[in-house]
Amino acid sequence: MSCLFCRIIAGEIPSRKVYEDDRVFAFEDINPGAPVHVLLIPKRHLAGLAEAKAEDESILGYLQLKAAEIARARGLENGYRTVLNVGPDAGQSVFHLHLHLLGGRELGWPPG
Ligand code: AMP
Ligand code: ZN
Repeated sequence: MSCLFCRIIAGEIPSRKVYEDDRVFAFEDINPGAPVHVLLIPKRHLAGLAEAKAEDESILGYLQLKAAEIARARGLENGYRTVLNVGPDAGQSVFHLHLHLLGGRELGWPPG
């Protein structure tokens, strides 16, 4: 298996796990861009939002709702951001879809 995030889900590469259930795995970003920076990924490999199909509708919503739960648990009542980077212009570097949850500081807009 060559996908980095599939290997993290399988436990072949260590990660700091935040949450796991049958559909989703969440872990700390190795290079955090904010005091809270968690990545949420579907357990079933999906390259990115550009590759998503109608059958992926529920997992995409589920990732967002789990991000909101983690944000609540981390005390981010002042606000946070969930982000999908899609493709080269957005800097997507890992081609297993991952939702960034960022918070714990004021976040500039628009992003870079
Ligand atoms: P993106 O640029 O949207 O593709 O985001 C990829 C993210 O994965 C970056 O924020 C990286 O810091 C993060 N990342 C890469 N490798 C690992 C790893 N082994 N464990 C945790 N996070 C990682
Ligand atoms: Zn994968």
